[in-house]
Amino acid sequence: MAGGVAAVIVAAGRGSRAGGAVPKAYQPVGGLPLIRFSLGLFSAHKQIDAVQPVIHADDIHLYTAAADGLNVLPAVFGGATRQASVRAGLEALAARNPEIVLVHDAARPFASPALIGRAVTAGKSGAAVPGVAVSDTIKTVDAQERVAQTLDRGTLRAIQTPQSFAFADLLAAHRRAAASGRDDFSDDAALMEWAGHPVTVFAGETGNMKLTTPDDFMRAETMRLADLSDVRMGTGYDVHAFTEGDHVMLGGVRIPSPRGLSGHSDADAPLHALVDAILGALADGDIGVHFPPSDPQWRGAPSEKFLRFAVDRVRARAGMIAHLDVTLICEAPRIGPYRDAMRERIAAIAGISQDRVAVKATTSEKLGFIGRGEGIAALATATIRLPWRS
Ligand code: MG
Repeated sequence: MAGGVAAVIVAAGRGSRAGGAVPKAYQPVGGLPLIRFSLGLFSAHKQIDAVQPVIHADDIHLYTAAADGLNVLPAVFGGATRQASVRAGLEALAARNPEIVLVHDAARPFASPALIGRAVTAGKSGAAVPGVAVSDTIKTVDAQERVAQTLDRGTLRAIQTPQSFAFADLLAAHRRAAASGRDDFSDDAALMEWAGHPVTVFAGETGNMKLTTPDDFMRAETMRLADLSDVRMGTGYDVHAFTEGDHVMLGGVRIPSPRGLSGHSDADAPLHALVDAILGALADGDIGVHFPPSDPQWRGAPSEKFLRFAVDRVRARAGMIAHLDVTLICEAPRIGPYRDAMRERIAAIAGISQDRVAVKATTSEKLGFIGRGEGIAALATATIRLPWRS
């Protein structure tokens, strides 16, 4: 299928200047891996027909988790340089032969949908790049850090991505550069200039920052949290009856018990309550809507599955879970010895730190069905933050 607009998202570099335990593209910004911002933004954009990620082969597992649920093409592996990586993405798109291709660095998570729209329009000229005026005075220096020249600021632009090109021209220029042994172009515009194509500049965005250093990540975290200003709280409640058995599953933890809990799944009441709390905060139905008890595929299912599903619904809206709080109400088993194991498990499933998960327990003072030991109940609240414009 020829025509349309494709986007190449480049994330194959190591980004070692950013520090951190994982490669830059997978470091979290406000609870989401960096690369997910660009993948989500471009794949959801009405003017983009296909998104081609380019990643490092070592990162495939990190990538698979980061891109979970997004509508993008299978990732291809990049090369030794940025230029080689972009070329790998273009070659992967060759059969599709789009009219226009946008090339974007995953290290710029805050490009706006409007900027993508401008890039698509500007790309019809053949080669166009977003640029912003430079506000600092720019000087060139020699090897001894002595000023050689002060440049005329009025003629300078700081160039960003997404850069936008006629696909056939960019692919041909990349192939020619590779054949000529040139692999050192710092961006695709420079390569197109070398190939003799005029390149125009359209309006970039000052917010479209490139994350390079740990400082940049700290600034990005602040920007991201400022954007997550739609704060919501949901509640959940669940009950399961005791039955025969030798253990119960509570908060994802297996606890030895003279009786089990009856239920269609593994009867993990606190996890069920948490799922409803998260879905409640999203105003997105309840656990029974998404996992009908009549559906045999959920028989005996580990409830972690349900919690992961709810967490993914938050991620799909580029949100974050700020806090989960669950209270178990039962006469037995004793919860105290398992509290931290449950917190650890819930935090791991939700992909948040343990200090954002509370597990509490109380009895019902021998009153009612809980007091008679017929079953247990769980209450939960979830606080989530969504982008204001979601
Ligand atoms: Mg239940």
